[in-house]
Amino acid sequence: MSDDAARNGPRVHLASLGCAKNLIDSERILARFAAAGAIVGAPPEEAEIIIVNTCGFIEPAKRESIDTILDYARYKEEGNCQRLIVMGCLAQRYSEELRQGLPEVDGVFGLNQDEEILAACGFTRTCDSGRFLLTPSHTAYLRISDGCDNRCTYCTIPLIRGSYHGRPAGEIISEAEELVERGVREINVIAQDTTVYGAEAPGGMRIHDLLARLAKIPDLHWLRLLYTHPAHFPDGMIDAYAQIPKLCPYVDLPLQHLNDDILRRMARGVTRDESLRLIERLRARVPGIAIRTTFIAGFPGETDEQFNELLQYVRQLEFDHLGVFPYSQEEDTPAALMPGQVPEEVKEERVAELMLAQQEIVFARNASLVGSRMEVVIDAPGDKDGVWLARSRTQAPDVDSITFVEGKGLSVGEFIEVEVTGADGYDLIARPV
Ligand code: SF4
Repeated sequence: MSDDAARNGPRVHLASLGCAKNLIDSERILARFAAAGAIVGAPPEEAEIIIVNTCGFIEPAKRESIDTILDYARYKEEGNCQRLIVMGCLAQRYSEELRQGLPEVDGVFGLNQDEEILAACGFTRTCDSGRFLLTPSHTAYLRISDGCDNRCTYCTIPLIRGSYHGRPAGEIISEAEELVERGVREINVIAQDTTVYGAEAPGGMRIHDLLARLAKIPDLHWLRLLYTHPAHFPDGMIDAYAQIPKLCPYVDLPLQHLNDDILRRMARGVTRDESLRLIERLRARVPGIAIRTTFIAGFPGETDEQFNELLQYVRQLEFDHLGVFPYSQEEDTPAALMPGQVPEEVKEERVAELMLAQQEIVFARNASLVGSRMEVVIDAPGDKDGVWLARSRTQAPDVDSITFVEGKGLSVGEFIEVEVTGADGYDLIARPV
């Protein structure tokens, strides 16, 4: 370490890739580094320790992780970097390959190895030190479980993160209270599958009970549930949307497909009609509820007809937010061995067709929203003076469109009422009322 680093503690730069679950892992390890005396949040060219928290979910995510590692490796020559550490999902899945293929990396660590990572950077006897929030200070993610028992045939998550294990409710509630005490006003509840929470312990707190309890935290303003699963979406959860005012009318409901043969081969545990009925019930019980979903295009054996069925439903169901992924053939998953693998260019065409259909829906909806009022939270100042980046109750952080608010004297973290004045592509434009 340099003299400066020895005096002040080494500087740490961390690049967090992938999803919000990875982000929490990044926040946890940064808090440990900070508690041990390191200076976290340094720019990469100044940092003595650079950590890349990788994602190994699908092919493009793996590529991005590798590119990021290689990109940061240059700071060993050009900057101060003395330790380049790789952690996270990709490291968990391909530790040996990474060790052998990337000699510039000083340490490869899988999940839950924070202590080992700190030891490799010269810090011994460190302990759990909470979270160093990487989100704007008014918003945070809250993880209620890890792992997944669903075994969808295309998914690598159970291979990476293991079987489902829920956190005790008391621990989750304490963490939420702590976050709110620190100034967090919006909590986004996450897991690999949030709706299964509590189902394994009959008589215990189910997901909707947990949300009702979290909503009681006095200064919490918005509560949002992400990563639900259509196969075990409890009725109580639909009631919760109708009954808990702080719970944002927003459901993140990954459907993955709407053809029964494909759903069966994906092992999703749900049929098309069951998914459609769930959407109908949610919309009937919670008027204005926003539905976000994701689909996989080009699953093995997907015929033109099956794809068109999905496309028709996308047009008909008018989701508020939609993500589409081309199917990614992941080794060690059952779907990777299924016959009828779809050529890449066909997958890409199908993704584009679905996104085009969705674009028309969103543009028409955005136009219809002009003149309406809604509550937003200001997330950050925009590039232009007097323009702010904000989100409504139906826009989740990081994954959805946003609302640009044009106004003077606003501040980050403020919740305000706005009127929609226009749209800019997928995003809305609004002004304070
Ligand atoms: S429910 Fe989600 S995380 Fe679990 S196996 Fe299926 S796709 Fe993967």
